[in-house]
Amino acid sequence: MVGRVVYSPCMKCFDKYIENNSFPDFSFYENLMSESGVIHFECKMGHKNAILIQEKSFEILLELAIENLVDKYYREAIFNFASAQERCFEFFIELISLDNDVNDEFYENMWKRIFKSSSERQLGAFYFLYLMRFKKSFSYDDKKTRIRNNVIHRGNIATKEMAFEYGEYVLNNIYDIVQSVTENINIDVLDKFVSKSMMKRKSEIKTDEFVSTMSGSIISWQVATDEELERENKLLEYSRKKPDEYSKMANKANGFGNKVLDVNNEGELILIDAPSNNLKKGAKYRGRTSLGELINNFTKMRDAYKANIKR
Ligand SMILES: [Zn+2]
Repeated sequence: MVGRVVYSPCMKCFDKYIENNSFPDFSFYENLMSESGVIHFECKMGHKNAILIQEKSFEILLELAIENLVDKYYREAIFNFASAQERCFEFFIELISLDNDVNDEFYENMWKRIFKSSSERQLGAFYFLYLMRFKKSFSYDDKKTRIRNNVIHRGNIATKEMAFEYGEYVLNNIYDIVQSVTENINIDVLDKFVSKSMMKRKSEIKTDEFVSTMSGSIISWQVATDEELERENKLLEYSRKKPDEYSKMANKANGFGNKVLDVNNEGELILIDAPSNNLKKGAKYRGRTSLGELINNFTKMRDAYKANIKR
């Protein structure tokens, strides 16, 4: 994913190449991100495509903000960071209501009537639900909020320093929320949230369109126990030492579906049952990445896509 512009191949052309056993066409088309999370485009062969973006709206807005930083649009970056934070608060409110088995219709009606048009009310709901769920208050920095208010409400021209200071603050808040969620809320609830938003996006598809989904958030959701991390390191080491044996066994693991690789005490590569996706005792969030690193990743990905654009 690369922010404002979505780069994608035509999936119908891609499939045709596979059918004909020839090398697939990896050319990318350039399309603008949409509010609904669905992108419609037609390829040079006239195939109609609909791409469903799997990311949550706050992740998309965060990518827009990072793209703004890369392109030196500092005022716009602050706008997008502020919106990413607000949408992340909304994500949390909805997730907590799903976790409490609140009926969708009740939730949607209340959101529309009371919260949708007031970010202050949303903020209030967020802080209170966070307090109730985790028995501690969410951090709040008045100084950083002033940067946002001066740019958005007073028309201040943002400097690079202001945009990075505010961006780091928002990114940290988002990581704090993602960490609280991934370490404490069952993955089934998160899955429910994703399928609910995908249902909304699917309702936008037209009957003659070839549908594909696109994922790849800038935010990592990886959570792992110390043992899992140790297992990953052992596997990485094994794959470097014996790449052929490793790939043979990896194919086997994929074939079984519910099996994963492990290295036993004798240093042999073995298959074990895949651990359950539910909350694991001692699992910690491992996805924090600095703003600088995200900017680097973004720039590399965008350059790679741009090199393959179909003109
Ligand atoms: Zn096509």
